[in-house]
Amino acid sequence: MDADLRRIEVTARFSAQTDDIFARASRASGYLLNAENCDSGEQLRSRGRRLQLPDEGVRCLQYSVDLGKAVREDPRNNSLQPGNVVVSPTVWMWRPRLASNDEIIVRFQMAEDMQVSVPWQLIGDQGRAYRLTASPESGHAISAFGAFDSFIAHVGDLDLPITFLRSGGRISHEPIVNWIQDNANNITLAYGRFPNPHARIIVLPAGGERRQDSAVQFGRVVRDGGETVELLIDASQPIELFYDSWTATHEFSHLMLPYVHSDQRWISEGFAQYYQNVLLARSGSYTEQFTWQKLHDGLQRGLESAPAMSPNEAASTTERDTRMKVYWSGAALALLADIELRQRSGGEESLDDVLDRFERCCLPSARTWSGIELFTKFDSLIEKPLFVELYETHAETPGFPDVSRLLERLGIVVHGKEVRLRDDTDLAETRAALTARRYTGQPGK
Ligand SMILES: [Zn+2]
Repeated sequence: MDADLRRIEVTARFSAQTDDIFARASRASGYLLNAENCDSGEQLRSRGRRLQLPDEGVRCLQYSVDLGKAVREDPRNNSLQPGNVVVSPTVWMWRPRLASNDEIIVRFQMAEDMQVSVPWQLIGDQGRAYRLTASPESGHAISAFGAFDSFIAHVGDLDLPITFLRSGGRISHEPIVNWIQDNANNITLAYGRFPNPHARIIVLPAGGERRQDSAVQFGRVVRDGGETVELLIDASQPIELFYDSWTATHEFSHLMLPYVHSDQRWISEGFAQYYQNVLLARSGSYTEQFTWQKLHDGLQRGLESAPAMSPNEAASTTERDTRMKVYWSGAALALLADIELRQRSGGEESLDDVLDRFERCCLPSARTWSGIELFTKFDSLIEKPLFVELYETHAETPGFPDVSRLLERLGIVVHGKEVRLRDDTDLAETRAALTARRYTGQPGK
């Protein structure tokens, strides 16, 4: 990479003749300056997202990319200080498709004082060398180059890298880094560990159209070459406003599940909604009453949203106003499953244990899961199955999972819109155990 971040020159060597090389983003061909077979010197052209290769394929490819143009056309750079840039590898990287055992080792050569942040796994001791393997490609990951700030979030025993892009404004990083660390540590309150030791966190400054009084404007998880949690923040807001936001705990909660097919997005969103509330209660951020108020309100919004649609339909339609159904029908299922597991085991087993076992067998996962596959796997991790039945009862059924009787038994009573808790119902103790305060492995907490 050149020192002014204008151009990337790539030499790619393959272990076998390769006849299918592509870039994931359709814009990529607009940034490809030239490409050649470095064994023969033959010039290669792109057609759409693919390189046109000789029939016998190539073993060595050399190409250069107009990084400056790619950066200019990526609006995220509008709010970044010159000298640090973001641009997805999917616009600059031309590569073969990866089967499950394939890997690409990527070594960056660039000025000493320049930094790199990519979602791939850092290879120790080799400096700026990374291992890229197959992944669900749920979106387009960020690669960042240049003079940004790097921090570490200590999460249980793990050190997770935080890439903090520079916007030019003077900000105090430490409170925000601590806030990220606290939110990542909330996830350890499910089963004692963070689900992915190689997750990366990217902090982007919010651009022009900021929402007032909102410190965390947006968050998402991208599973592309690794798992990245992206947080779009307004660093000028007071730190209290960061702690008022559930977004970071929500995004980190997503990592307890693999990438689930978008038609069953209601499962991943629902589990994240459920866990963000439960974990914020366990961390002491929410009172028990406030937790159930949030869960009740959300479930109510889910009930009212697109009542004629099934969860699968709501997740796959382009119609608007299905959002609350997508966000809360999976939360209802998580609640039903969690309480059933706790009840039948006398409090010995819960949804936390299922996710714990699931992490041990299956995370981080290199592929996309269907809802039924995920729930079948969950059932294999418990003695008496329940998840597939829940899926079959609700996934294709119009309406919303009925949790009203369950909430009553948990001691959730609603007066007007306000939730009150009763301790004399048969599941009141189960309710209390679910959100009971726990402590993270984080020093000083
Ligand atoms: Zn989400």
